[in-house]
Amino acid sequence: MADQHHVTIIGAGIVGVCAGLALLRDGHDVTIVDRDGVAENCSFGNAGVICQTDGSMPLPYPGILRDVPKMLMDRRRYLTIRWGYMPSLLPWMLAFLKSANAEVRESNARAMYALLDGTVSSYEALTKGTPGERLIRKNGTLVIYKTDEGYEGGADDRAFLENLGANSQHLASEELRQMEPCLSPDLRHATYFPESYSTTNPYKLTCAIGDQFVAEGGKIELAEVTGMRHGAGRVSELETTAGDRKVDRLLVAAGAWSHRVAAMMGLKVLLDTERGYHTVLHGVDTGLTRPLIHAEDHYGLNQMDEGVRFAGTVELAGVDAAPNYDRADIVYEKGRTAFRDFDPSGATKVTKWMGRRPTMPDYLPALGPASGFSNVWFDFGHQHLGLSLAARSGMVVSDLISGRDPGLDLHAFRPERF
Ligand SMILES: Cc1cc2nc3c(=O)[nH]c(=O)nc-3n(C[C@H](O)[C@H](O)[C@H](O)COP(=O)(O)OP(=O)(O)OC[C@H]3O[C@@H](n4cnc5c(N)ncnc54)[C@H](O)[C@@H]3O)c2cc1C
Repeated sequence: MADQHHVTIIGAGIVGVCAGLALLRDGHDVTIVDRDGVAENCSFGNAGVICQTDGSMPLPYPGILRDVPKMLMDRRRYLTIRWGYMPSLLPWMLAFLKSANAEVRESNARAMYALLDGTVSSYEALTKGTPGERLIRKNGTLVIYKTDEGYEGGADDRAFLENLGANSQHLASEELRQMEPCLSPDLRHATYFPESYSTTNPYKLTCAIGDQFVAEGGKIELAEVTGMRHGAGRVSELETTAGDRKVDRLLVAAGAWSHRVAAMMGLKVLLDTERGYHTVLHGVDTGLTRPLIHAEDHYGLNQMDEGVRFAGTVELAGVDAAPNYDRADIVYEKGRTAFRDFDPSGATKVTKWMGRRPTMPDYLPALGPASGFSNVWFDFGHQHLGLSLAARSGMVVSDLISGRDPGLDLHAFRPERF
């Protein structure tokens, strides 16, 4: 067994609890500190897709600058920017545009492919024999298209991933409806990813992993980390709203707030947030048996245990701005058209939510040791894929903290790359 340490984790979202359980099982003594409690932020309300290597292509693509005005003016308003936030966003935006280069994108896609290759097996390992296992579906996921042009537009990315070994199947409209009879015949194509998983409730899955962590000896404390004492390349103490806490090893998994935590150590991390929204019609059972992502309209649909969830959109407005729930309505209005005869009349209630995706400019997570510190590691910035990547990243950081080689080249994910 590796040397045992006491590890403090900041953040009890899906990324923090998965890392906590992996570390605990490696023999460490682990405490997670969170301001709001388990799964109270972005991990609460996502679309529930646990993708495999199909998520490997980073968003910044050559020519995206040309498409941004079109996206902003599109009446379906997938993307919105609060202009008052633009001066703060500018450095992130410039780095994003720099990543929108064919060579950089392909190289980043290879790095993501290697990381995503372990998503489902890592969830298997973490949840096997625990209550969390029952919240995971293992029947694949779908990406859908309503136009031939939309489907053809994704051909280069699909070919690139197939070359790397990704497993997917094309479904024509009729084949899609055989698989999911509730969907509209207007959908012309789908790509089916048979190896991907999903969850019927991301909040319950995160809580189940958190409960398992506590059952196996981990501790979760409610407190906000407000400052740090550090020197000689080590963080020695956290200042929190529940008092000061000594630190042996520290893992930062604070989602969209991680750059603020890094700043407490004097480190600059170019993280921002892509805020997304959901609408849930509780009590409505559409019959959809696996989640889907609409590639052209940019939203996700998932039949959760509590009702049907419509999730998506990107709002660039920073972590502090108040939510604009009109965006949750936009997702719903677009998403309902994917169904053949959508009937909302049975809804017992409708809830809307906003979550902050933690996103680095190149869409790769920050995963690895914190620069200049011998006892701090970072695990954040998982953008649209944080649920998918949480278990895998948790195992990687547990390897690092335990002094083992994770068997993966982490150079592309180094936190200080911007
Ligand atoms: C609409 C939408 C749909 C999505 N769909 C999917 C999907 O289908 N599949 C997928 O893989 N991903 C999806 N995502 C992305 C995914 O939800 C996120 O990447 C993931 O939840 C991030 O998890 P996290 O643990 O890093 O962050 P969080 O869940 O936000 O957790 C971070 C925690 O850190 C705590 N914290 C922060 N600062 C401090 C501090 N100073 N002191 C103490 N605690 C602190 C916060 O309280 C918070 O609980 C979606 C996101 C959105 C918005």
